[in-house]
Amino acid sequence: VNSKLPQAGTTIFTVMSALANEVGAINLSQGFPDYDTSPELIELVNQAMKSGFNQYAPMAGYMPLREELSRKTEKLYGAYYNPDTEITITAGGTQALYTAIATVINPNDEVIIFEPAFDCYAPAIKVAGGIVKALELEPPDYRIRWDMVKRLVNSRTKMIILNSPHNPTATILHQEDIDALTAIVKNRDIFILSDEVYEHLIYDGEAHHSMAQYPELRERSFVIASFGKPFHATGWKVGYCMAPAVLMSEFRKIHQFLVFAVNAPMQAGIAEYLKNESHYLELPGFFQQKRDYFRKGLESTRFELLPCAGSYFQSVKYERITDEKDADFAMRLVKDFGVAVIPVSAFYGRGTDHHVLRFCFAKRQETLDNAVERLIKV
Ligand code: GLN
Repeated sequence: VNSKLPQAGTTIFTVMSALANEVGAINLSQGFPDYDTSPELIELVNQAMKSGFNQYAPMAGYMPLREELSRKTEKLYGAYYNPDTEITITAGGTQALYTAIATVINPNDEVIIFEPAFDCYAPAIKVAGGIVKALELEPPDYRIRWDMVKRLVNSRTKMIILNSPHNPTATILHQEDIDALTAIVKNRDIFILSDEVYEHLIYDGEAHHSMAQYPELRERSFVIASFGKPFHATGWKVGYCMAPAVLMSEFRKIHQFLVFAVNAPMQAGIAEYLKNESHYLELPGFFQQKRDYFRKGLESTRFELLPCAGSYFQSVKYERITDEKDADFAMRLVKDFGVAVIPVSAFYGRGTDHHVLRFCFAKRQETLDNAVERLIKV
């Protein structure tokens, strides 16, 4: 075959998780929890199955779930999305991202992404025939240089992809970023794809800035989120996209031929679970405790902590330990020390290596303790 993605291998998440299993390492690489999903949520899904939610859900998603999302978004961000025309349930965040890109990107359209970037953005752009314009961000603060963004923008720029809280760097957008972005897209036909799957994983009392809450941005944005991260159920693969009706109607044209509809009982169970807002309002506290615990543990190692404002990832620099490439060092860590991590160079299209590793701290305290015990020896 004439490959659509000649450069693509297997994603780093699959590679590292498989290696962790093979050598029996503690897996802090791929982002998923090692503790149980809420028994209450599981029971709600069970009940949905027992009461007959086992046939196709509506193409755009189970209506009560869309209604709950509409209520939640209005309450948290003061933005109303019509559940009938502006919200679609997807098979996880990744499918929503892919579909949104397929919806608007035509051959030779340019898309600006910020690297390190989650690894599904660039391939989806390329399959659509688009051109990836990557702006590389640098540690320790990974700030977006908006003057550089401005220089990249031209008449072919079709979309800007944002991700806050950010995977893998754990940074978040601030009001000045929103203001700069608003100024750049004003009077231009640029769409925004906003990956907000970590919206509830935000720490130190900071507020999440959703594209939903700024009318000038909302009108051009696909806002993507998911239930896997907040509800500790990454294997369920249920997420959603919110966008103005004119964009959503095009999104659904593709969605219906890609997945048609998402599994029904999970949607019904999640819709019930969402009615209790503490299920998401308690998340910053829950994860901040883990972040603080893990950071404290890492202080007794030779790794150097980078800031973590959101997401469930903690990045570190390791210059005090070695000058190896991050991918080589990650291999050594999993094989010789029994801890699997993600080398952040995997998130740069050109493989830029700032000697940074990413750990996932969505783990039981015992797992974090065991990992730190091993990392102290490095
Ligand atoms: N979002 C998770 C991570 O960054 C896992 C994604 C995946 O495995 N596709 O680790």
